[in-house]
Amino acid sequence: MDVRGYVESNAREFIDALKQWLTIPSISADPAYRPDVRRSARWLADHLSGAGFPVAEVWEAPEEGLPAVFAQWPATDPDALTVLVWGHHDVQPVTPLEEWTSPPFEPVEQDGLLLARGASDDKGQVLFHSLGIRAYLAASGEQAPPVTIKLLIEGEEESGSPNFANLLRRERDRLKADVIVITDTTMWAADVPSMCTAMRGLAEAEVTLSGPSRDLHSGSFGGGVPNPLHGMASLIAGLHDADGRVTIPGFYDTVLPLNDEERELLAKLPFDEKQWLGEAGDSQAATGEKGFTTLERIWARPTAEVNGMWGGYTGAGGKTIIPKEAHAKVTFRLVAHQEPDDVTAGFRAYVEANTPEGLTATVTTRGGARPCHSAIDSPAVQAGRRAMQRAFGREVLFTKEGGSGPEADLADIIGAPLVFVAVGLDADRIHAPNERVDLSLLLRGAEVSAYLWEELAAVSADLKHS
Ligand SMILES: [Zn+2]
Repeated sequence: MDVRGYVESNAREFIDALKQWLTIPSISADPAYRPDVRRSARWLADHLSGAGFPVAEVWEAPEEGLPAVFAQWPATDPDALTVLVWGHHDVQPVTPLEEWTSPPFEPVEQDGLLLARGASDDKGQVLFHSLGIRAYLAASGEQAPPVTIKLLIEGEEESGSPNFANLLRRERDRLKADVIVITDTTMWAADVPSMCTAMRGLAEAEVTLSGPSRDLHSGSFGGGVPNPLHGMASLIAGLHDADGRVTIPGFYDTVLPLNDEERELLAKLPFDEKQWLGEAGDSQAATGEKGFTTLERIWARPTAEVNGMWGGYTGAGGKTIIPKEAHAKVTFRLVAHQEPDDVTAGFRAYVEANTPEGLTATVTTRGGARPCHSAIDSPAVQAGRRAMQRAFGREVLFTKEGGSGPEADLADIIGAPLVFVAVGLDADRIHAPNERVDLSLLLRGAEVSAYLWEELAAVSADLKHS
């Protein structure tokens, strides 16, 4: 039996198991559901044991965090490549409950879709690997996969992975791997299979400009002393030049440029700017850094955004003052290989150099998220792409995503390249009411998984030395 045949003949069993798992409300953000997150971890460990994984354990997270599941299926060859698959078994809260057409933890099948919280993000996508590994074994007649497979399925991703980096450090030896597969992203569309290759990072800052020790009467003092709000307006306006580039010194120094092939492949995505503008809150124009397309701007270029500005009098009527201070919150979306700390240091330097005479600036920054990136011509990404192309029977394109989870920590602490292999869709309504998943895509995902081990094994020489 070939891979597809195996997946098809085991589809019912797979879907029923997934539905069972989806009845467990593993909402990590709500303390009331902690026992359910534990139950979800136990369910998965038991399921993976049943699927044949010789090792399947529940790992308690440090600091009384919520448990992850670790499972391992070694290759017969002790020198084989080791692949670590990451996903998560916790889910988002379900409010507003009244918008759900069926209870979020009572999975319903409808027109080829499965509706339940976690169906796509991320239980459905985690579980297809279990079917995929068995499909590989059935089709090849082997007793073990051609690479050592480790699964690490986190239980706190939807609440910001507070203990995940520490868990990775604690278990670094057992998690050792040559490549990391991330299964928690989306494709462009059901008929446009694609792989994510990067996620933007984040840096945050808040700036206060202080002038006089109290609000001043503008009739008595106006025109004679610096106004903090005027200072803030010019400081913020100066963050971008006429070409939409961020003016912070050194901001672009470490930015990895898009190469020609990448730009060409991004341009192949069927992007409808009008429709996208509609999704962007009916924005009236696509603007941004000169010389880049919209997709390049939102995926591959760093940004500075003013999130809020306030100060002075904003109540009813007028009040003729020179306010004593002005405030602004600014965030930066980062791309490889920018570091959040370098960017906030650059912002501090920019503020220092551009604070008008007579005003005092205070800048506070918050630790952000590092961007992550995998090169489209790397052996691991190419292997993932071949696996997807075999399953989908068509060219697989590349996307990038805006959000950032623990992927950069994984890459850094485990010290291995990332490959994003997933079959979710934007239409899955993840984090929203009526989350759903296309069951035929989950089964396609199982096929991708089955081919992935072979494809990675075939380039193991490159990956072991990279
Ligand atoms: Zn997720």
